[in-house]
Amino acid sequence: MLLCSVCATHAPPAFAQALAPSDTSSEVSDLESITQLLFESIQALSDYRSNGTLPPIFQVPQHAIEVKVCDEPCNVSAAYIPREGIYLAANLDPIREPLDRAALLHELVHYLQQGHPKFAGLAPCERERSKEQEAYAIQNAYLASIDSKERVIFYAGDFDCEGDAAQH
Ligand SMILES: [Zn+2]
Repeated sequence: MLLCSVCATHAPPAFAQALAPSDTSSEVSDLESITQLLFESIQALSDYRSNGTLPPIFQVPQHAIEVKVCDEPCNVSAAYIPREGIYLAANLDPIREPLDRAALLHELVHYLQQGHPKFAGLAPCERERSKEQEAYAIQNAYLASIDSKERVIFYAGDFDCEGDAAQH
């Protein structure tokens, strides 16, 4: 099974600490503002429309995300998990780092894709592949829109949907 993930573009620190709840009040409101701005970017770059509800965003140590989405260490630094929310590795800084902000935008796209009728007719593997392809495309459109030279690369080969295709 393949879950959405964005791999870290830089090595994670040797250890990361979860933020203590008492330290996060000011950061959470900043993160909320960033999330709101990213929703506006997604709306400008795609047909998705936010319903005004922000998904929960959890900043947790990198290894906690790996445990959630991988069977073995996998260097995943961000993930959207339906019915839970978005998990961001604590070493990501979406408030200050454009690339990390783009990773959060990628996961927000997955949040908006969840349950969208345009994916309803696809086989599960093809559905995940199209969602991923679209999230990468919007992520790159966002990077271009903020004049970043960085681009993320979608590897279609990560999705082996041939089994599905053979059943036509
Ligand atoms: Zn993804």
